[in-house]
Amino acid sequence: MRQGFSSNFINQLLGGAPKYTIAELEEKFPPRALPDGAFVTRFAPSPTGYMHIGGLYGALIDSKLAQQTGGVFMLRIEDTDTRREVKDAVDIIVASLNQFGLPYNNDPEYGPYYQSQRRDIYHSVAADLLARGMAYPCFLTPDDMAEIREKQKSAGFPTGIYGEFARDRDISEDEAWARLNAGQVATIRLYSTGNPEKRIFCKDAVRGSIGFPENNEDLVLIKSNDGLPTYHFAHLCDDHFMRTTHVIRGEEWLPSLPLHMQLFRMMDWAAPIYIHTSTIDKIDANTGKQRKLSKRHDPEANVAFFLADGWPTESVLEYLFNIAAAGYEEAKQKGQVKNIWDYEMRPKKIPMSGALFDMKKLEWWAREFIGSLPVPELVARVVNWANEYGDENHKNQVSDIDYLTAALSIERDNPKRVRKDFITWRQTLNEIAYFWDALYVANSEYEFNRDVLKMFLDRYNPADDKDTWWGKIVAIAGELGIKNGDAAMSLRVAVTGRTNTPDLYSLMHVMGHGRVVSRIKDILK
Ligand code: GLU
Repeated sequence: MRQGFSSNFINQLLGGAPKYTIAELEEKFPPRALPDGAFVTRFAPSPTGYMHIGGLYGALIDSKLAQQTGGVFMLRIEDTDTRREVKDAVDIIVASLNQFGLPYNNDPEYGPYYQSQRRDIYHSVAADLLARGMAYPCFLTPDDMAEIREKQKSAGFPTGIYGEFARDRDISEDEAWARLNAGQVATIRLYSTGNPEKRIFCKDAVRGSIGFPENNEDLVLIKSNDGLPTYHFAHLCDDHFMRTTHVIRGEEWLPSLPLHMQLFRMMDWAAPIYIHTSTIDKIDANTGKQRKLSKRHDPEANVAFFLADGWPTESVLEYLFNIAAAGYEEAKQKGQVKNIWDYEMRPKKIPMSGALFDMKKLEWWAREFIGSLPVPELVARVVNWANEYGDENHKNQVSDIDYLTAALSIERDNPKRVRKDFITWRQTLNEIAYFWDALYVANSEYEFNRDVLKMFLDRYNPADDKDTWWGKIVAIAGELGIKNGDAAMSLRVAVTGRTNTPDLYSLMHVMGHGRVVSRIKDILK
């Protein structure tokens, strides 16, 4: 500890008297009235205009742990980097959370939820640390710091502002006044008393207790250019006064844990429980090695991709959820739970490494999910997707709801044998495109049995029931001395352009007499 600063000086340094004392803040943001064991969590993205799949993974864990314990899940916008445009970026985050069904609950009592609007709180806490000699104004310029860095590098020392390199850590108040009066700007730095020869033990709920060297860096708490806090200092203030119980964040923050423990101890506040989550990885197609999903190279790193491509948001969540709560898949298969909100996530079981995102596996979840949807729901999903993201053809396909419904109803009446060939809303529409004349493509490669087509045209009656219809095909095959299946195949390919379709009788029925006849006639031309 060093000598503290006078309130006159602190007011000058911070550009005004702190709005609150610590006691006032404690009273303004009282402990939450929640049942025992309730988790208070937050998703705290920096608004970059991009929602990474790893962000969704974290938000899902936050949301789920709050939901299952009767707690609160908040969204906090970490917009302390004022060089970035914020408005649209926040809209993207909010829209993503809504679209994926992860509602947050930002009780105004604990707000505001934009860090840029919480300056008063940060300055009040900084004032307290300054008064107690636990923080100090640092007047090092970028040039000074570059010079220090060079020195450290050439001497083989760790870089950073610490110990003897922290020129201003013991600055007298008189000198600090003089510098302020001379127009110099100050950052506010932590006055670290940590000794890296000693170890500090920090707890992560999944990893257990981890020993780190104590932190001796005088890290920046408040930046000089805009008076806003660094992540570290904002985390301390916000998660304390928002009464966060569990901080779930990416593993890249694990090395900062000793610093964060130090800050909480300096304020004599109980630190939240930490869970550091694994990055979301994939197997690289070229190298065969596991690596982080990359914003630059992997479209599926961006949550927007799944929406635009029409993946059921529930399936994306189920898949991510099953990474974090590995027993879910089995419980779901056994019919023990309906969806992720019924299955208890065990915080200690959240994997600390190796979370793999595999599109093939996601496909499986999507097939199962779409297979389970009642037809009207399936239709509604497909229509919504087409209207928002579809091209002209997709929009055209959803313009006649009755016809679309009929096409999507095929092979969905027996719940035990529901077709599983639909994966995304986009692919669903593409899969049934042949129902529309404008999208039907006659198969020019297939060698049709023209006799089958001719004989079928003569005998076809759209009013026939399935047995009668099939009886006619069997008769034609018999007369021509070919297999029933081969006769049916000529008809199938003629009517759909494809060799693989669901039940032919049903789809002829849906297409209607005119379409069936004209397609067969066109082939015969
Ligand atoms: N803004 C930080 C990030 O995006 C938040 C980390 C945290 O959840 O504390 O990484």
